[in-house]
Order: sequence, then structure tokens, then C-alpha cells
Amino acid sequence: LGKSPARYDQRPETGISFDDIAGIDEAKAEFEEIVSFLREPERYTLVGAKIPKGVLLVGPPGTGKTLLAKAIANEANVPFYNVAGSEFVEMFIGIGAARIRDLFKKASENTPCIVFIDEIDAVGRERGAGIGGGNDEREQTLNQLLTEMDGFKENKGVIVVGATNRVDILDSALLRPGRFDRQITVGLPDRLGRLGILKVHARNKPLAEDVSLVQIANRTPGFSGADLANLLNEAAILATRYKKNTITKNEVNEAVDRIIGGIAGSAMEDT
Ligand code: ATP
Repeated sequence: LGKSPARYDQRPETGISFDDIAGIDEAKAEFEEIVSFLREPERYTLVGAKIPKGVLLVGPPGTGKTLLAKAIANEANVPFYNVAGSEFVEMFIGIGAARIRDLFKKASENTPCIVFIDEIDAVGRERGAGIGGGNDEREQTLNQLLTEMDGFKENKGVIVVGATNRVDILDSALLRPGRFDRQITVGLPDRLGRLGILKVHARNKPLAEDVSLVQIANRTPGFSGADLANLLNEAAILATRYKKNTITKNEVNEAVDRIIGGIAGSAMEDT
């Protein structure tokens, strides 16, 4: 009990490529640069360039942060360590810190590689800001993360990618140079972005002629990539239910209404 290491996947093959990601071109361009570093680090070291050790992806849920991290590992063909920040949140003092140490030990033995920490705010919250003041376990875990990030040198090939939708609650120490010093905002897609994402997710779906992806993109402001993927999947499930061989406008409209209902519902819970 308690001594178990954090559960993380370590896969060189995430199966996700940059072609599977649309609508967030700026973030993609930044990541393409990291891939090029992982492939040919000499080109950067030759001219004295430092590649960031830590990249923080900031944006609302479902916008493709995890996809981006998976795509760099896959495109650069390097191991991908995927862990959720909540894996480090433990009751007993020292366990979270030990898991961080273990993760970075593995990563540094397998360079170059990507360490992806989703929901980094779970460990990276500002110290002393927990419920009831200080929280020794969480502070120790965060301190360990800071130590690990300071411990490996630039251009050694461990790139830590963190993701959060709460950059405002992160401890400022995490954002200092040499840690997560590069922030990339991954926002909700605009109309053209939504069209691009719909095209990606329509690839393996037989759409009837009356379905226009442009019209769907026009009707879905505020939808995230995950919402759009979900929309087409719902439409496909409805088409099966109605025993159709193709997805028609009817199923698409029904799916849009359901998801708009869902989004409105969750927005109401928030307020
Ligand atoms: P969270 O903050 O909830 O972890 P996230 O930003 O990491 O969200 P992802 O897990 O990357 O979101 O996205 C969830 C799913 O939504 C993806 O597997 C994909 O199917 C779809 N998706 C999200 N964004 C995009 C995008 N930009 N292009 C294509 N598909 C997307």
C-alpha cells in the first residue's frame, strides 16, 4: 500500500500524428519545433540554442492538449510518459515526492523522451494555499517536482509538458525560467478551426450528401474539439439506431441539440 509507483503509461507509439489535430495551428507550430529538436538536437546545440525543459499547455478542457503531447512523442518517435497530476496527491507524507522521483528517474534513463503531466494544478497549486493552510504532503511533492526540473540540464532530452486549465492557481516557482518557462495557450477553436476538427473526425464516417460540415461549424460556437468529436460520434450512434447506412442531416441536428443541451446544463452547474 502507498509504496506503489504512480500509474503511468510509457509508450513510444501513441498513434497520434499532427494530422489528427486541427484548429490550434499556433500551438501545433510550437510543438513542431520541439519535434525537430528531438529529432536533430545537434542543429540547436550547434548554434547555442536552449530548448525549453518545460512547456505548459493552458486552456479549457477538451481542446487538444493531451493530443498535442501525444503527437510530439509519436512524431519524434520517443517514449511518452503520461501521468495525471492527481496520481501524486496522496495522504501520506513522502509518497507523492517518491513517485515524482521515480518518474523522472525512468525518464532520464530513456532520453530523449516526453513526460506529460495532465492536470498539473493538482500538484502545482500555490504552496500554502490548500484547504486549512499548509499541506505538507503536497508541498513536498511540488518541491520534488521543482528539484527534478532543476536537476536535468537543458538539451538533455527530457521535455516536460504540463497541462492545466487553471494557470492562475499554479505556484509561481513552477513558471520560473528553467522550469515551465514556455506557455502555450490552447483555446477554443474558431469557425475555421471547428471545420478543420470536424474534417478530422469525419474521416472514417459515411456522411450523407445533405450533411455540410461548414454548416455544422457555423452552428457550434463555443464547442471544443472534444465536443465536436462527440457530436459526430453521437450522430453515428443515432444513425445506427435508426438503421441507416449513412449519417444524415437529421442525426447531425439531433446530436447538435443534445450536445448544446449538455453544454448549457454544465454551464448552469458552474454558476
Ligand atoms: P482535458 O483538459 O480535459 O484533459 P485536453 O485539452 O487534453 O482536455 P484532449 O484529451 O486532447 O483534450 O481531447 C479530447 C478528445 O477531443 C481528443 O481525443 C480528440 O478526439 C478531440 N479533440 C480535442 N481537440 C481536438 C483538436 N484540436 N483536433 C482534433 N480533435 C480534437
